[in-house]
Order: sequence, then structure tokens, then C-alpha cells
Amino acid sequence: MAVDSPLSSQLGPPACERDAKALHFIEETTSHADSVQDRVLTEILTRNSQTEYLTRFKLNGATDRETFKSKLPIITYEDLQPEIHRIANGDRSAILSAHPISEFLTSSGTSAGERKLMPTIKEELDRRRLLYSLLMPVMNLYVPGLERGKGLYFLFVKSETRTPGGLLARPVLTSYYKSDHFKTRPYDPYNVYTSPNEAILCPDSFQSMYAQMLCGLLQRQQVLRVGAVFASGLLRAIRFLQLNWPQLTQDIETGALNPKLTDPSLREYMDKILKPNPELSKCVRHECSKDNWEGIIARIWQNTKYLDVIVTGAMAQYIPTLDYYSGGLPLACTMYASSECYFGLNLKPMCKPSQVSYTIMPNMAYFEFLPHEPDSFGFPRDSLPKLVDLVDVEVGKEYELVITTYAGLYRYRVGDILRVTGFHNSAPQFHFVRRKNVLLSIDSDKTDEAELQKAVENASRLLREFNTSVVEYTSYADTRTIPGHYVIYWELLGKDSANSPTDEVLKQCCLAMEESLNSVYRQGRVADNSIGPLEIRVVKNGTFEELMDYAISRGASINQYKVPRCVNFTPIMELLDSRVVSSHFSPASPHWTPERRR
Ligand code: AMP
Repeated sequence: MAVDSPLSSQLGPPACERDAKALHFIEETTSHADSVQDRVLTEILTRNSQTEYLTRFKLNGATDRETFKSKLPIITYEDLQPEIHRIANGDRSAILSAHPISEFLTSSGTSAGERKLMPTIKEELDRRRLLYSLLMPVMNLYVPGLERGKGLYFLFVKSETRTPGGLLARPVLTSYYKSDHFKTRPYDPYNVYTSPNEAILCPDSFQSMYAQMLCGLLQRQQVLRVGAVFASGLLRAIRFLQLNWPQLTQDIETGALNPKLTDPSLREYMDKILKPNPELSKCVRHECSKDNWEGIIARIWQNTKYLDVIVTGAMAQYIPTLDYYSGGLPLACTMYASSECYFGLNLKPMCKPSQVSYTIMPNMAYFEFLPHEPDSFGFPRDSLPKLVDLVDVEVGKEYELVITTYAGLYRYRVGDILRVTGFHNSAPQFHFVRRKNVLLSIDSDKTDEAELQKAVENASRLLREFNTSVVEYTSYADTRTIPGHYVIYWELLGKDSANSPTDEVLKQCCLAMEESLNSVYRQGRVADNSIGPLEIRVVKNGTFEELMDYAISRGASINQYKVPRCVNFTPIMELLDSRVVSSHFSPASPHWTPERRR
């Protein structure tokens, strides 16, 4: 029931007093975006004035924007490598931040094949919690009655390591779920999960998923929303149900938990809630045993009002599959965040995926925007165009996000390209356009052109003894099956037809490519099962020439034509697939351990 509060918001009538406060906070912060940004920058520069980094650039205690912008360079992760290394190796002096670095967050973006290490400080957890606390008050404006049920969310922790200097290194969500902010969160009727902490925090991904799915099935009538962080994660859960429903329904029927679940705290929790329920078991079995899984989410969890998953950016490729399994339920993209910083939220979470805009919250960090020319090859470093402040971006233009955080990143290029769609009060709203330099992505992996090139080079060495070389290649992220996988099209030139590479050799080429890809890719293959075996499709000689003819017939310049290293345009895929002479899959998992290679 909406309350008529004195804090009633422009966004709409809040669902309860607490929501009113959250909505009021959004209104206040977005109405005074520029002064909030001023305050944030002053706070960051004041508290960190004595750090080695700010001292190096002779800021001399200045906290105004002009001095800051004139003295500090715009940087990428590579520029910070020396400082990151020192912190990782145990240097506890105030290098980047006056507050001690509490841990490293391991980004899905990589540098030299390993996850980037983003330093963070304790109080960033409060900022993350603050952003999370705004999501349901906004959602409650659009979907009433969520306090009468629960959310089935598939949430996971991943492995963590320690740096040589003893700091923890783990993904931001693992850090959040393991924090007291999450574990001992106060009861909130609008935000009750079917998954217990015991299941979310279980480090074994099979046991965690199994328990979360079982809890979701046991409480199926109460489930009002189904979600995961990214679309790929929710589809992985559906695949898990496809593979495991016979055992899950047996557990429900008998009330006896699958013996594969061995985690003691998980067993203890499940033993308490699992009671024989033949009727529920029959019902779930009835749906799952059908050949057609169209609309399965809505059939099993009949009260689901929406799916809460990110389907913007690279995840947009999963929209048709999600629509298929959900029977067209609305897709809600609620927030935009990263290991470096949580950025903002979608104030219209029930809009269509193509309409999603994120409002960057000016209290989270100091934001600058590097004008981006969509068709240019990027600006040389020393002639970057002038950066624009948060409130000064222009509707319709594209920018690269540059952040200055409380944890000690100064004028740091995140690598995301955003387009301004409008303003909420004085805070701009952005469409996520893409992340720079990502060629292939299935889950959180991001493979760029150089990594793919290196992988092809390494794999093609295996062809030398057959006098064969790879004359051209391109790639494609095939997400038609779950999990999706990389497909690499190869055109080969063999000089010795009596000794051409066998299926076994080409399979080894697939594995060699996987071994060369970055650690996030290999983790997806090995630990998360979120990426399927890489496939090489050998195409007939002359195929890439046909590809060029096709591009030229559609207006490409013959002088400037370059083979696209990734394709996703249907006619091109059809052309390539119609020329395939053989296809080969990686026969084994590549090597991966949580430890970093360097
Ligand atoms: P990570 O560093 O692994 O935490 O990944 C953060 C990156 O994921 C961001 O910089 C974006 O490129 C991407 N990302 C996060 N949230 C969204 C979103 N809502 N829509 C599209 N991409 C996102």
C-alpha cells in the first residue's frame, strides 16, 4: 500500500516510509548533482592529499576541479601496474589511498591474461550497500506487492586467493556476499530471498546451485521474481534444472537430500526445510519432463512478475533465449556497477531492454567523460579531447567513463562507452553502448582481438608439421546452446595433401587456443562451467575471399577492407556455415587454478 509521505517523491508514491527516504535521497542527490560531485572530489582529494600518488603530481593540497584536471593524467590500469604490484607485495604505505587497502577486487577485465586487481577500502562496502538499498524502493514504484513474496536469485561466491603481501583478492560480489553487510542484513519484507546464506556462501558451485534451485522449487508459490546478476547466470540455472530435475524432484518427493550435498551447514539448513512433498514433486516433474521447455520459468514459478537480470551490453545476446524460457516475462535491468566502483541504477527498471538507461549517482565517485568518436580509432594519448563533467554531458553523445574513487583511482578509464539519453533532475542517464576492445564474450569473459590473434598463432604451431597454415580466421560467440561457446572459423592452406592435419590434431588446436586465452575465460570453462568447449570450423578454400566480395557488394571499400575478426551478422554467418568442411571441439578443459600466473 503506497504511503502518502511528506517525503513523497517525484518518482512516484513510495511503498513505505523507508522507501520514501530512499526516493528522497535519489531526488536530492540527482537534483544537486554538480555540488555533490564537488563535495565528492573535495573529500577524495582532502583525505588523500598526503598519498604518494597525489604528492607525485604536486597537487599541494588543492581540491578544486581545475587544478585537479590540469595536474593529474588520465590513466589506464597499465599505468597503475607498479603501484598495484607494490600494494599486492605488501607495501602498506599510503600509495593511492590514505585509508588502508582492505583487499583487491578481481575484475573480469584482464591485463596480460590475468584479472585486473582493483584496490578497495572498507568503507566502499557502505557505498555499495547504499546503492543496493535504492533498488527495491524504485522497483516498488512499478511492481506492487513484492513484500508478499520472495525472490529466487541465483547468487554465488567464487574462489579467492591472497596476494604475496597477504591481501585477499576476490570478485566484488564474493566480497559483498561474504561481508556482514550482506550476511547479517536486517529483515526487509520487500527483499526476501528463497536462497539461504548457507547456499549462497557455499564455495562448491554444484552444491550451491543445487541447494538454491531446491529452495526455489520448495517455495515456488511464494516466488514473485527470478533473477541472477547477469543473463548468462540465469540461463545456467535453467540448464542446471534441465540436467538435474530428476534428482531434485526425487529429493522433494522423499524429503531426503541428495547425498552429493556434503557441505555441513548446507545439509543442516536443508534438512530443516525439506519434508516429503509428493504433490509438489509430481507437479515439477510434470513440467520438466515435457520435451518443450518454452515458458518453463513461468510454468514452474507461476507468480513470477519479472526476471531481474542484466541484459544490457554483452548480455543482450541472451534476450531471445530468456524470452523463450520465461514465456516473455518482463526483464528488469536494475543497476550498473563494476569492481572499480558502483555507478548507478535504472530508475525505470520495467522498461524494455533496448530502452534501459542508468542514472549515475553523483555520490558514488567523481565522474568525468571522455568524448568518444564512434568511428575513430581512438585519440592518441597526448591529444585526448577535453573531458566533460557529469552535469555537462550532452544528450545523444557518446563518452568513455573516467572515474576518481575514494579507494584511490584517479582519472581512471573504466573502458565503458556510454550514450547520454536524458537527465533525471541534473543527473544524466546513460545507455550502455559497449565495453571497449571486447571481441568475444559468453559470460563475464572478455576476449580482445590481440588475445584471439595470439591464441590462433599458438594453436597454428601444431599445424607446422603438416605443412599447413591458417590463412584467415574469424570468430563468433555461439549462444544458441547453454553454455555458449567460442566458434573460430579457419581457412587452411595445406602444401601436402597426403599429410593434412587430422581431427585429433585440430582438436588439440582447439585446446591450445583455450590454453592461450585469459584466466577469466579459463575459469568459465573449468570452475564455473559457464563456457562450453571451443570449436574450430574449417571452411573451404576461398571462403574469406567470398566474405570480402560480399562486404564489397554491400559498399565496403576494396582498399580498406579488413577481415572482421568477429562476426554476428546472419547472412555472413550463413555464408561461413555453408562452407564448413569439418568441425572440431576442444577435447579437454584448459588449465586453470585460482592462483595468478604472475
Ligand atoms: P567487473 O570489473 O568484472 O566488475 O565488470 C564490470 C563491467 O561489467 C562494467 O565496467 C561493464 O563493462 C559491465 N557491466 C556492469 N554492469 C552492467 C550493466 N548493467 N550493463 C552492461 N554492462 C555492465
